[in-house]
Amino acid sequence: SKDEGGGKHYTFEPSLHASAEERRQLEFALRSALEREELTLNFQPVVDANKENVLSFEALVRWNSAEHGFVSPGKFIPLAEDTRLIVPIGEWVLQEACIQAMTWPDDIRVAVNVSGEQLLDPNFSASVVNALAVSGLAPNRLEIEVTESIFVRDDSAARTTLEQCMALGCGVALDDFGTGYSSLGYLRKMRFSTIKVDRSFVQGAAVDNPESLAIIRAVVAMADSLDMTTTAEGVETEEELAMVRKLGCTKIQGFYYGRPMPAADARALFSNDRTP
Ligand code: C2E
Ligand code: CA
Ligand code: CA
Ligand code: CA
Repeated sequence: SKDEGGGKHYTFEPSLHASAEERRQLEFALRSALEREELTLNFQPVVDANKENVLSFEALVRWNSAEHGFVSPGKFIPLAEDTRLIVPIGEWVLQEACIQAMTWPDDIRVAVNVSGEQLLDPNFSASVVNALAVSGLAPNRLEIEVTESIFVRDDSAARTTLEQCMALGCGVALDDFGTGYSSLGYLRKMRFSTIKVDRSFVQGAAVDNPESLAIIRAVVAMADSLDMTTTAEGVETEEELAMVRKLGCTKIQGFYYGRPMPAADARALFSNDRTP
């Protein structure tokens, strides 16, 4: 509708789905977001569960649109996927994430989210090679995050591309684990470096939920025996932290240790301990 942010709406509009018109306007704005430099990256720390030092940051894209203000990735990433705008946007994200990581100590890694649409683009591995070359980042400092959904569509094409990335030396993490595809068959064929346990198993009521605990315990045991690390996502409270630690998750990500922050703030974490 035209009067966004204006008067009150008394008509019922399902809020989970943007109207066709709103979607069309967002798509139009998204088409020029890159050239208008409206996209930025935020970085969220991932911390060692025991030693509590920062191991890596996950790059999370932000869009501040001239017309629409801040639009959440939950809204514009699906749109970018449907329109294939995710390919150029994803290339920019990869490159910018690698460039930022070069400003951190050289044992700190960076994780980048990659959509299925991007992964199945024939130029994907070339864009990884390019981002590493342009930035000078060592391949083993880059981790690519994918969700189980990529194995639903074209299992072998996705695997081939991820194997090319692993051959370069990059890590591959399985994101949002436990929320998607129910078959574990692909775990036999692909060696991930990390499994990220979805925050729905970690948060709030789930802490007191024996089923959630049993699932996390099983995921950790499986990851251990397959030589993968486990990241608990969405840890916000002391209680959640204590629980995922006790269950043996090796890495922690969530508001408890830090929210996604601008690149300058991530960089500053490493200069703070210098005495002036
Ligand atoms: P994700 O990959 O699962 O990223 C984690 C999301 O959880 C982020 O939301 C982060 O801000 C949020 N989060 C982290 N810790 C906590 C916590 O303790 N509590 C709560 N409630 N939330 C927490 P964000 O930044 O809004 O991103 C949403 C999703 O958008 C991401 O989920 C990812 O699927 C997608 N996304 C973000 N950036 C990119 C990107 O550059 N490329 C692609 N393809 N997708 C992206
Ligand atoms: Ca992710
Ligand atoms: Ca996730
Ligand atoms: Ca997610």
